[in-house]
Parts: sequence; C-alpha cells; structure tokens
Amino acid sequence: MSDLIPQTPVIRETPCKTVLGRSGIGDYSLNCYGGCAHACAYCYARFMQRFHPHEEVWGGYVDVKGNAVEALERQLCRARPGDVFVSSACDGWQPLERERRLTRECCRLLVQHGFQVNALTKSALILRDLDVFEGSSARVGVTITTLDPRLVALWEPHASSVEARLRVLREAHAAGLKTSVMFGPLLPFLSDDYESIHALLEQATTLRVDTIWVDAFNPRPMVWEAVSVLLDAEFPDLKERYRRVLFSETVRRAYLDGLRRRVARAAGALHLEGRISTCI
Ligand code: SF4
Repeated sequence: MSDLIPQTPVIRETPCKTVLGRSGIGDYSLNCYGGCAHACAYCYARFMQRFHPHEEVWGGYVDVKGNAVEALERQLCRARPGDVFVSSACDGWQPLERERRLTRECCRLLVQHGFQVNALTKSALILRDLDVFEGSSARVGVTITTLDPRLVALWEPHASSVEARLRVLREAHAAGLKTSVMFGPLLPFLSDDYESIHALLEQATTLRVDTIWVDAFNPRPMVWEAVSVLLDAEFPDLKERYRRVLFSETVRRAYLDGLRRRVARAAGALHLEGRISTCI
C-alpha cells in the first residue's frame, strides 16, 4: 500500500487575488492552500482537480497562496463579518503550515475583524494557534473517521494520530474555547458498526465537545477512483459492497437507514439525543 500513498508533495507558489470565498458551509470559507498533503483516500476536496488540474495525484501536491494574508487584508476592508469555515478545500493545518503560518495569520486577522472562525482539521498543529482564538467565539474542531490506528494509517496516511486529534479537543476545551468534532465519513463495514459509533460518541462525551456531527460515506466526484485503489490493495472483499453502498440507490437507502438507527441508538445510550447533527 505504501507505494500508493504520495510521500513528499510537490510544492508550488500560486499567488491569489482572494482567499476568503463564499461558502455553502456558513458564510465564508478560507483556503490558504490548494491540495492537501494529508492525502486522505476518501477526500471530497479532490474534485478541485477538475478546476486546477495537476500531474500529481491528490495528496501529491500543495499549491501555496503565499500572499494569502495580504489578499485577506484587502478583502476584509469590504467583507461583512460572518462565519468562516477553515478550511473547505484543504486542511489549513497540513504540514506545510508549520513553516508558512498562513492559516494562523489569516485566522488572527479574521478574529480581529469580528469574524467567527470554525476550524476543522486533522492536525494537532492547530494547538500552536490556540492563542489566536483565545477569548473569541471561535470553534476548534477535528475530524475523526475511526479510532483504529491501522485504518487511520491507510485512509488518512499523513494526518495526525487520533490520540493527537483528541488532545486538540481536550486542550481547546481547557483553554475555554468551543469545540466540535466531525465523525465522518464513517467507513462502511470498517468503522460504522454500533460499537465503533458508540466508542466515537463516547469520546465526544468524555471530552465535553460542544458540537458533534456524524456523516456517512458519500459518492462525491473523483472519490471512487482513489477509494477503489485502496480497497483493491487492502480490502478486496469489500470493494463490491462499497460500490453498491455508494451507487445502488436501493442498497444505499437501506444502508443509510441502518446507519441512522445505529447512530440514534448509540446517542441514546450516551444521553446525547438532540446534541448530534447528522448529515446522513
Ligand atoms: S485532511 Fe481533509 S482536505 Fe486534507 S486530504 Fe484529508 S479530507 Fe482532504
């Protein structure tokens, strides 16, 4: 499997005119990078390759908007304050952010200008930036699809470990910040059984997470190609079952009904009714 996972991304400088975009998830989204070195096999953002084609596979390149902070400063002269999702088409705290600090400085500006930052990441690097959010209404969140380290290594090869992501929730809460967790996409037949869902929700309860989302695995553009490569290599017996869950209307409907029931049952067992938003 390792030779299927991009190891060192190709980095390109790609100056931008704007960095704050209108978003279907809240009012705005902020993306300081194009592409994402976390290289998750199921990444929905890979559809961006349709608009910005690259020779490299998803995860094998990162375009850096090196003037993101200056571009945002200009945009903030006119933009009305609102919610900003960070980030929608990349992970704002992917490895390159450690040295480039673009997401950090943009978040600082957003907070200064009265915007509500909703950060969602798979990287513990966001802990570096808690000082930027302290005292604001920002929400610091992480995405977790499974607690199983072997599955994480296969599906999210360059993201932080689950333990590190849970630490983000713990430390952000301790810093007085609102927190969120996205459990998704739950991996069909791998991390979507009742026990796995219960274990995920239990973590959110223990860490007193403010906002919990649960999402199913969705057939987004260009995702199947990457996922089928992983399934061929690691879970060949599951490939046909994934195909049916994603692309057969009747199978998908039955699958989602079952998933909804398992989530509701686990939520009930943990007294989380009404506290979970599902996108299922
Ligand atoms: S961290 Fe998010 S944006 Fe990056 S590859 Fe994974 S799913 Fe895609």
